[in-house]
Amino acid sequence: MATRLTYTTGTSAEVDEAFEQELAAVRASAAEPLPHLVGGEEVVNGEPFEREDPSRREHVASRAREGAGVVADALARARDAAPAWRRLPYEERALLLRRAARLMAERRIEIAAAMSMEIGKVRTEAVAEVEEAVDLIATYCSLMEQNGGYVHELGRLVPEERNRSVLRPYGVFGVIGPFNFPVALAAGMSSAALAAGNTVVLKPSEEAPRSGDALARAYLDAGIPEGVFSLVHGGPATGAALADGDVDGIAFTGSAEVGRALGRKLADGPYPRPVLAEMGGKNPAIVTAAADLDKAAEGIARAAFGFSGQKCSACSRAIVATEVHDELVLRLARLAAEYRVGDPGDREAQTGPVANAGSVERFERAAAEARRDGEVAAGGLLLDAGGHFVAPTVVAGLPPGHRLTRDELFLPFLTVTRVRDLGEALAEANAVPYGLTAGIFSEDEGELERFLDEIEAGVVYVNRRAGATTGAWPGIQSFPGWKASGLSGKGGLGPYYVQQFMREQSRTVVSS
Ligand code: NAD
Repeated sequence: MATRLTYTTGTSAEVDEAFEQELAAVRASAAEPLPHLVGGEEVVNGEPFEREDPSRREHVASRAREGAGVVADALARARDAAPAWRRLPYEERALLLRRAARLMAERRIEIAAAMSMEIGKVRTEAVAEVEEAVDLIATYCSLMEQNGGYVHELGRLVPEERNRSVLRPYGVFGVIGPFNFPVALAAGMSSAALAAGNTVVLKPSEEAPRSGDALARAYLDAGIPEGVFSLVHGGPATGAALADGDVDGIAFTGSAEVGRALGRKLADGPYPRPVLAEMGGKNPAIVTAAADLDKAAEGIARAAFGFSGQKCSACSRAIVATEVHDELVLRLARLAAEYRVGDPGDREAQTGPVANAGSVERFERAAAEARRDGEVAAGGLLLDAGGHFVAPTVVAGLPPGHRLTRDELFLPFLTVTRVRDLGEALAEANAVPYGLTAGIFSEDEGELERFLDEIEAGVVYVNRRAGATTGAWPGIQSFPGWKASGLSGKGGLGPYYVQQFMREQSRTVVSS
């Protein structure tokens, strides 16, 4: 099992076979409600809820329990465990976290299969996501080590004064995860908090409780001490209970609406507390008259239809110079029609279903608007087949500023907007409140320079066939959200993330 998968590599026969066995096994396993994991113990408490298998609507993928009633106890355990954990040298914290990462790497196919069942991610994306989780943990541990635990010697005005800047953990972090990267982002946010010396209570997405459970068990099996990490299942009510509880900060990944509300909530109270929020996107790819259209069409199709448009980095808008517009629409329509949608158990499937019935309704509404106001070049149809399957869709000819070119739909739904020149393209690209990822296809150096200078997005890609706006990897790219896509302007995956889980203390010590 030596082959390593990332979002831009393929799979192997060995991985395929192992994945299919694990998927069949996890689908056949009885889904008793998963317990919460609090202070190292299983806690059975709260109303059970079900998560359906989005590829097979009549099957239950997971059961868990609403944890709002458990949150206070988990936070109290985290509070008790905080002093010993922060005093543990960062090297020892990293040792335990790396052990958890190794366990996840060993269990990667099993974890990927459970995740695929819960959220319909195909194997290439699911196995790569577990690999990403492993690398995220390693990246944040390495950052602590490379920066000597973030202790900086400062200057001296008099010889007997020693001055240092020390970054210190806030204390207890609540971590709230999204459905779409339920392993990698829960692992990324929680491991950064832990590496920095905070204790953590994680609430995974209610769409992916098994994924959260798999991460939690890796931490606990690695020997993370009791109370330092707890897992509480549930939906928005449990997330709200966590944010209302005794936390020193929240790390959140999800929609802009919820992230901004959390930011406001933690700004209130006796003093403001940090909310590290990574939020949505409406990510554009600009294609100029000087583009290589092969690269552009392939890069945009991959970014628009991979994981059925449900990556925060997914490309949902192509903004195309009029000279190449019609040809690119034709090519994108062809690629969309060829894109294979199916059950994650199907080796040929390039993408799976969308998350749930709400996503299907959103798709039907968007397709109806597209038929009314524009030209549907491909897709626009439900594929059903027993699950939440929808056809990769390309829509051109919408009026300027149309809702479908502004709102995050989180679907395999690409709009193509015709523009006269790069100036108009940049204005259109920047016309949304979001600023997460963006791409350009052009062979003209001057155009590329202007794009890099003027585009309002935290993660940008130039001429990327492997994904016009997608496919960031820990330590290789950073993942900052600008504007409504993030609260801090610094990104997960990158060199400025882990510091955000700490506050600075300036220490002046006078020797006698
Ligand atoms: P969501 O906002 O619906 O839910 C995210 C999490 O917040 C879930 O665990 C949910 O239970 C919880 N939650 C919901 N309401 C809450 C409340 N009032 N208080 C506390 N917690 C609450 O998002 P989602 O549908 O799970 O994920 C998709 C969204 O996430 C998209 O907008 C996507 O762009 C974004 N996303 C962003 C990034 C990034 O790095 N910028 C990465 C992945 C996903």
